[in-house]
Amino acid sequence: MAEKMKIIPLGGLNEVGKNMTVYEHGGEIIVVDCGMGFPDGDMYGIDLVIPDVTYLVKNRNRIRGLFITHGHEDHIGAIPYILKQVNMPVYCTRLTAGLIKLKLEEHGLTKQTKLITVEAGEMIRVGKFYVEFIHVNHSIADSVAFAIHTSMGVLIHTGDFKIDSTPIDGDVIDLGRFGELGKEGVLALLADSTNVERPGYTMSESIVGRTFDRLFTGCKQRIIVTTFASNVHRIQQVIDAAAAHGRLRAEGGRVRAEHGEHHEGGHGAGVHEAPQEHRGRPE
Ligand SMILES: [Zn+2]
Repeated sequence: MAEKMKIIPLGGLNEVGKNMTVYEHGGEIIVVDCGMGFPDGDMYGIDLVIPDVTYLVKNRNRIRGLFITHGHEDHIGAIPYILKQVNMPVYCTRLTAGLIKLKLEEHGLTKQTKLITVEAGEMIRVGKFYVEFIHVNHSIADSVAFAIHTSMGVLIHTGDFKIDSTPIDGDVIDLGRFGELGKEGVLALLADSTNVERPGYTMSESIVGRTFDRLFTGCKQRIIVTTFASNVHRIQQVIDAAAAHGRLRAEGGRVRAEHGEHHEGGHGAGVHEAPQEHRGRPE
């Protein structure tokens, strides 16, 4: 019988959120991402939406691992709920692992979960799959795409990405590696990026820093900035602008407070660097 490759999306297609894709080959399964979705207006009393994993539960003994592209909720939010139904090792980069760990702690799953940290550029073998981590730019640090090498060929699963030639951490998306894989030949490319159907380019994240600088200049009043708590590069840019303009800084928000506690032992200041004198409280 000819070899077969099955790609089964359990969520994330034609919708924002709930990203989860199953790859099945040679009787073995790997899963990419495990996100939550947001309830529609008519889902009264429902706080979050998770993928239907009946297929995984039925085939649990054939699953080799869960690979996570990045730490956004729509890619990791369902992890604790799904792991309670199907336990599997989780492979991801360092920041993503940190965010997942908070969820595992909250749900008391730390002990029974194998959380394995992998760096971009590395390749992990699980069963018949070789999964290569490739660095990409996105609005959260430590994001990766996967090149899934199999005996049938290579599949590329990009996850969310953006091509930023001047990212904040200076670490540009590894287009070279995508080029190499393209030359060698790719069986299928699964690409996902919000607004991908809109023509043109997305501005580099460093433009945001310059914009902050312009807005902070000459402002005498209190400045309030809102952002996703996971966008650590953007928060760093706010902190840099605050420091450069001699501003005291105060942070609020539920997720922000959680992140801060875990990264800095309760100071609530998060993973960022700022001179001590710029850490402040609202007057
Ligand atoms: Zn994302």
